[in-house]
Amino acid sequence: MKKRILTGDRPTGGLHLGHYIGSLQNRVKLQNEYDQYIMIADVQALTDNFDNPNKITQHVVEVAKDYLSIGIDPSQTTILVQSQIPEIAELTVYYLNLVTLGRLERNPTVKSEIQQKGYSDAIPVGFFCYPVSQAADITIFQAEFVPVGDDQLPMIEQTNEIVRRFNRIYNRNALKECKAILSHTSRLIGIDGKSKASKSLANAIALSDTPEEIKQKVFQMYTDPNHIKVSDPGCVEGNVVFTYLDAFHPNKEEVKSLKDDYRRGGVGDRVIKNILNDSLQLLLEPIRLAREQFDSNLVKEILQNGTQKARERAQETMEIVRTAIGLTYF
Ligand code: ATP
Ligand code: MG
Repeated sequence: MKKRILTGDRPTGGLHLGHYIGSLQNRVKLQNEYDQYIMIADVQALTDNFDNPNKITQHVVEVAKDYLSIGIDPSQTTILVQSQIPEIAELTVYYLNLVTLGRLERNPTVKSEIQQKGYSDAIPVGFFCYPVSQAADITIFQAEFVPVGDDQLPMIEQTNEIVRRFNRIYNRNALKECKAILSHTSRLIGIDGKSKASKSLANAIALSDTPEEIKQKVFQMYTDPNHIKVSDPGCVEGNVVFTYLDAFHPNKEEVKSLKDDYRRGGVGDRVIKNILNDSLQLLLEPIRLAREQFDSNLVKEILQNGTQKARERAQETMEIVRTAIGLTYF
């Protein structure tokens, strides 16, 4: 029996190169070793996009296409849509009783997101409580492991606190704690060089971008502001083009000698951008071609089957939960 793992993404836009190196590539490997569940977290995406539901709903199929085109295999991985499993919302309600306001306020990830989103004066309660809903996501499928970046560790901690509290109060054998599988890849920077590549900041190269869009974004990239003439020595550190070359160029030796030349002076930004563009086009072309094989109807069928299977797991867990609390009247 393979052990179960759960990961997911918010369908706030198409997945990008940051997701590719940060999680997607790894999921292709993990599906061989583990019983992998991937959740398209549309309910969570609504917590900070409730006034723009179209943005979320239209990206559900697109995100699924991203998965399939990079090699997620629906016969090995269960892809599910969060909103179509109402048991998750039910479990969230029971979990909300087990968490205090103060505890949620101390969650460092939520704290920094509240600042970023400018919610400090008026925090939507749904958004504030999303870590509780995330605890329900993980435990309802009885996932043993959760592959995450270090920014998500507070969520795992919160989940296990809820599990321990639930078991202590209702039944010590009801739920299982989960463990993180920590990813050590650092966050890919955005093409603006300011913050991490992110769907919401529109500073990322999407897996579904056209060749023209890719080229345009590469040529927009921030380089070294003091590198004005080609003959000037250039700085490699903090130069977005070199960050991307490090991450995506297949030949490390070539990148190293290009860096040396750039530092000495005599290499123009146009040259390094052309080299980066070539390697990104090479990387993304097969992904784009694979994507064309998945028409929307086929993808919806894959999502429906995955969601159906996942819902059965969720219903099994809810039997355990309702029995533990004593909600068994009829
Ligand atoms: P949003 O702007 O809606 O928050 P996002 O682009 O930040 O979208 P998420 O869906 O929040 O993407 O990210 C899901 C997971 O993808 C993260 O926990 C992380 O593992 C990975 N990820 C996202 N952005 C990057 C990045 N720039 N570099 C590496 N990994 C990333
Ligand atoms: Mg994010």
